[in-house]
Amino acid sequence: MGELHVLFFPMMAQGHMIPTLDLAKLFASRGVKATLITTPLNQPVFSKAVDKYTQLGFQIQIRLLEFPGVEVGLPEGCQRTDQIPSDDAIPSFFNACAMLQHPLELLLQELRPHCLVADMFFPWATQAAAKFDIPRLVFHGSSYLALCATHTLRHHNPFINATSDSQLYTIPNLPHQLQLTRLQVSPFQRSEVEAPHTEILKRVMEAEDISYGVIYNSFYELEPDYAEHYKNVIGIRAWSVGPLSLYNRELEDKAERGKKSSIDEHECLKWLDSKKPNSVVYICFGSTATFAPSQLHEMAMGIEASGVEFVWVIRNKREEDNGSEKWMPEGFEERTKGKGLIIRGWAPQVLILDHEAIGAFVTHCGWNSTLEGVSAGVPMVTWPVFAEQFLNEKLITDVLRTGIGVGSKEWKRSNSDGVKREAIAEAIKKVMIGEESKEIRSRAKTMKDKARKAIEEGGSSNLDLTSLLDELRAYHAK
Ligand code: UDP
Repeated sequence: MGELHVLFFPMMAQGHMIPTLDLAKLFASRGVKATLITTPLNQPVFSKAVDKYTQLGFQIQIRLLEFPGVEVGLPEGCQRTDQIPSDDAIPSFFNACAMLQHPLELLLQELRPHCLVADMFFPWATQAAAKFDIPRLVFHGSSYLALCATHTLRHHNPFINATSDSQLYTIPNLPHQLQLTRLQVSPFQRSEVEAPHTEILKRVMEAEDISYGVIYNSFYELEPDYAEHYKNVIGIRAWSVGPLSLYNRELEDKAERGKKSSIDEHECLKWLDSKKPNSVVYICFGSTATFAPSQLHEMAMGIEASGVEFVWVIRNKREEDNGSEKWMPEGFEERTKGKGLIIRGWAPQVLILDHEAIGAFVTHCGWNSTLEGVSAGVPMVTWPVFAEQFLNEKLITDVLRTGIGVGSKEWKRSNSDGVKREAIAEAIKKVMIGEESKEIRSRAKTMKDKARKAIEEGGSSNLDLTSLLDELRAYHAK
């Protein structure tokens, strides 16, 4: 047979599109023809990188599918999860996604690829691929640990009908004793009564069971017990090919991921260059999580109380505040001038994390951010908010022991609140300058080295990708 042609279809969310673009580039760099599928308003996330890769001689292209958002009652222009106007509108967004099955099948008919790599949130993609007799691989963009826990909770769930919100319960049958409270798991996992996403999440799990296998943006050495558990106990085939962000080696690739940065990257680097190694804490909560104004106020007070220099990415321009920042403590910016750099909007995260001035990362534990922090070798202050972030936190604080939590107590998709300034300041000080910080930093550096080795020639992720590509070629040669 000729070259492999693989289609990549990520959920329209920054945390899914960014690693899928990296994945498609990686496949293209290994001689595969890669086609990225997205909706018209999300094309800019991919176009610059795709143009650059095409000019370099790789085969990579974008194909667009119209998004039927308005048909299901979403506002005009809402084509990404962070644009969903309220939690009530989430099911409509998923309905619009499911309506993409037919246009996707028309595209499969036209392009006749050898494999479809589709996002976890598109469970219907498995049926679409089956119609054309091609393997459907799932791309989760999540950790093995989180997926192992999620699968386990399907069968043995101590949180359902638990009597206490604050008592710790052990997630059963996992390699480590991981404990969460009922409030730290999703509403879907808390009760048998249907939560807004219950149906879709059930279908996601079922599709994973019957798909060809799962591609993980992870590497074996990061969570070996969970990679083994997933394959041998849960029984689903999987390949680890990450950390994907590490394949971006040039400044411009690291600087512009997902969106154009709100700060000139050279200005940002100049500011960091003026700081001592390991002296600055980087604070950023991904693309979707939002905080209550009272929490943002507390955050500012905590950062200031830590006395540590910082880069703080503030994303929530709350519409109800007309974009004002009434929560900001009076005089905060003047008092922290020179000590702190506030980036309003989108930061060149990977570039910042890789700078030697960065001594710690306050993160919401989104999987991409977690891996980017691991790849940069920085200790983390963990502040999970929703999705599978509380599970990723456990990997950092309990398994890898490369971070310390602020004590986030409740899973909440928006308006997260409840973490006190003292806890924030204490966690930042502990990872930056406290007694434990040396050991935490040393463990983080060891993991950084392992991450880099994994993607090199002969490394675990490099070999796993080779075996996946060999298998796909053999599948079609048959
Ligand atoms: N990101 C970025 N600049 C920002 C915020 C986020 O480049 O200001 C990137 C970050 O590097 C990561 C992705 O957006 O690759 C966020 O994914 P993650 O899984 O961490 O969180 P999510 O946004 O899905 O909650």
